[in-house]
Amino acid sequence: MLLFKRVVDLQAHLQTLRQSNKTIGFVPTMGALHDGHLQLIRQSQEAGNDITVCSIFVNPRQFDDKKDLELYPRPIEQDIEKLTSIHCDILFLPSVDEIYPNEWQTPDFDFGELDKTMEGAQRPGHFKGMAQVVHRLLWIVQPNRLYMGQKDFQQVAIVKNMLQQLDWSHIELVRAPIVREADGLAMSSRNVRLSPAGRAKAKYISQTLREAAERVASLSPAQLKAWATAYLHDHQLENIDYFEIINSDTLQTIETWDAAPSVAACTVVRVDGVRLLDNIILK
Ligand code: AMP
Repeated sequence: MLLFKRVVDLQAHLQTLRQSNKTIGFVPTMGALHDGHLQLIRQSQEAGNDITVCSIFVNPRQFDDKKDLELYPRPIEQDIEKLTSIHCDILFLPSVDEIYPNEWQTPDFDFGELDKTMEGAQRPGHFKGMAQVVHRLLWIVQPNRLYMGQKDFQQVAIVKNMLQQLDWSHIELVRAPIVREADGLAMSSRNVRLSPAGRAKAKYISQTLREAAERVASLSPAQLKAWATAYLHDHQLENIDYFEIINSDTLQTIETWDAAPSVAACTVVRVDGVRLLDNIILK
């Protein structure tokens, strides 16, 4: 695996590959890699991209909570080992100055209602910061395909919208399924911060979503939300930042199951002060 820390070096290398018609799959991450991240890399490899690039960059601009930024795990040696073991071709490991040089200007994206709900409502500035880094990374890497996880459901919808605003239809956005621990908890770099007791009850988040999916035929969206909230409470999960049943495209809550062609339930539950995101596609 090749490791690049500087934008100019990575760009020069990718330019030569592009000239020989190599296709590039790109997986942006913040590191502390787990199987969820590695699955995205495998998906890029299996889709036949000639080159798979992974970036690790803990983007300060998308952290609304300074403590969360400080506590974010950064096990870079282990990350390099994991990427090497699955034969990732390139790791891009830039500094903050490489990503945000003084002369760099990010377009002012308007995501309409997409970034006003759920994570957007809970974490002011988060999606603006996320869009800035994804835009910058895409400008640098210029991939053919971009791989992102369904775990960050709203993030994928916003990046899709950003690609439309930029008219970058030459980049195909691929949404990969959520990779889970054996008990169903969605894998996350933040899971290491859970206490043993918190870790034990965290499995009820995904269980709630699975059970909710089985009740779509018998309950209205509002009834299902009430049922899920009560079910989480019954399992000592009281700190629910939100549980929303939404139109998968617009991310707005729905009142009837016919209101959208695709519907998802998205939730964030706080356990030991850690925000655990999860979702399921209901229809
Ligand atoms: P992060 O490092 O948390 O910014 O995540 C980098 C990418 O990995 C994002 O596209 C995430 O949605 C994706 N990802 C994180 N956790 C998972 C998971 N458990 N399953 C699938 N994709 C994931």
